[in-house]
Amino acid sequence: MPDSYGIIGHPLGHSLSPVLHNWGFRENGLDAVYEAWPVRPFELAGFMDRVRRTPILGLSVTIPHKRAVMALLDGLGPRAEAVGAVNTIFWRRDELLGENTDVLGIAGPLRGLGLKVGTALVLGAGGAARAAVAGLRELGAKRILVANRTRSRAEALARDLGAEAVDWEHRAGLGAGLIINATPLGLAGDMENLSPWPDDAPLAGAVVFDLVYNPLRTRLLARAEAQGCMTVSGLEMFVHQGLAQFEIWTGRRLDPDAAKALLLRALGG
Ligand code: NAP
Repeated sequence: MPDSYGIIGHPLGHSLSPVLHNWGFRENGLDAVYEAWPVRPFELAGFMDRVRRTPILGLSVTIPHKRAVMALLDGLGPRAEAVGAVNTIFWRRDELLGENTDVLGIAGPLRGLGLKVGTALVLGAGGAARAAVAGLRELGAKRILVANRTRSRAEALARDLGAEAVDWEHRAGLGAGLIINATPLGLAGDMENLSPWPDDAPLAGAVVFDLVYNPLRTRLLARAEAQGCMTVSGLEMFVHQGLAQFEIWTGRRLDPDAAKALLLRALGG
């Protein structure tokens, strides 16, 4: 029997994680398989029992289980503790532990650009925004601002993780050198023609990181490119968080450029 890994969430949609991890297993000659398991909230506790009994050796966790699953684990890594959410489950000896590699999904690509982050602005205050703030803190950002449609959530995030909440309406006038979109505005489907940035506000001079990766070139990134900004696509985050998961599970490192090329092919780009 091959070793068993997979992703849980609901709805799972068309996840790229099986493409990435099954390629990683093949590249390393590992007898393992990574599957997609749609798990509804009321099924989570039962599924986690199955993880312990089978055993399943590693799990990626996505919406809506990233917080709920924490109570079903034996311990948390430092990044999961800081963010208050788990996206990766793994075994260490006989303990089932949770960690958050989304933080590395933010910090990794920005570190790769060699950026010195002064003032950063995070748009959104959900799970991805929390990981973004934690990643920016790891990078030593001088000032981290959070703007969210629902201001109380920005305030809670700012309090929990050490940032400053600002009004959503004032997001364009803050002079941030790095802007991170952690909302779904721009995502394929109903939101594709939307942008978290007002159309009449300049972006020039900022580095713009859109966590949305489908489409790869969101409306926000297209506008940022047109104004000469350096841009980072959500695919970079996906690759870095996924490679960090693979390393936690197997101890092996995958080549990020080969992984990106694989995923671009999978996305048809
Ligand atoms: P989430 O927890 O549901 O948070 C969504 C955030 O977006 C909330 O702050 C919400 O504001 C805001 N928002 C939603 N609709 C909005 C609208 N119409 N106008 C303004 N703000 C709006 O979701 P999440 O897990 O943080 O994910 C956010 C996005 O990040 C996802 O859509 C996904 O594309 C991307 N993501 C990418 C990766 C990757 O690997 N690249 C990983 C995770 C997530 P309220 O608080 O006011 O509702």
